[in-house]
Amino acid sequence: MESQKKIPAKLAVEQLISKATTAVSHNELIGQLKERYNRVTIYRSLDRLVDDGKIHRIIDMDGVSKYALCHSCEDAHDHNHNHVHFSCTACQEVTCLENIIPHFQLPEEYISKEVNFTVSGICPKCN
Ligand SMILES: [Zn+2]
Ligand SMILES: [Zn+2]
Ligand SMILES: [Zn+2]
Repeated sequence: MESQKKIPAKLAVEQLISKATTAVSHNELIGQLKERYNRVTIYRSLDRLVDDGKIHRIIDMDGVSKYALCHSCEDAHDHNHNHVHFSCTACQEVTCLENIIPHFQLPEEYISKEVNFTVSGICPKCN
C-alpha cells in the first residue's frame, strides 16, 4: 500500500485560510479537511494558529466562529483585532476591514478581553 505523504494539519488549515478571501468557519474547514485529518486535530490546529498570531477568530452575527488570516499582527504579543468585520446578510461572508478601527473608551473598572466589531449589511459583491 502506498502511503500518501500528507502535510501537517496546521499547515493545511493555514493554507486554506490564507487562500480564502473571506473568513472561514469551522464547518467549512472541517468539510474540506475531514478526509485527511480528524476533527480534534483541526480544532487544535486552529487554536495553535491563533496563539501563534497567524489567524484570528471572528464571531459573526449568528454566533458562529470564523477565522481569517492576520495581516497586521507582528507576533502573538500584539495579537489584538480591533478592526471591523463586515458580515453580509446576502452571501453570509465575513470580511476583515483592517483599515477601519473604531475607537472607544470603557468606563473605569471594565477590562476588555476580546473585541468584536461586526457590521452587518450588503457587501460589494451582492450590492
Ligand atoms: Zn492576529
Ligand atoms: Zn455578500
Ligand atoms: Zn479580521
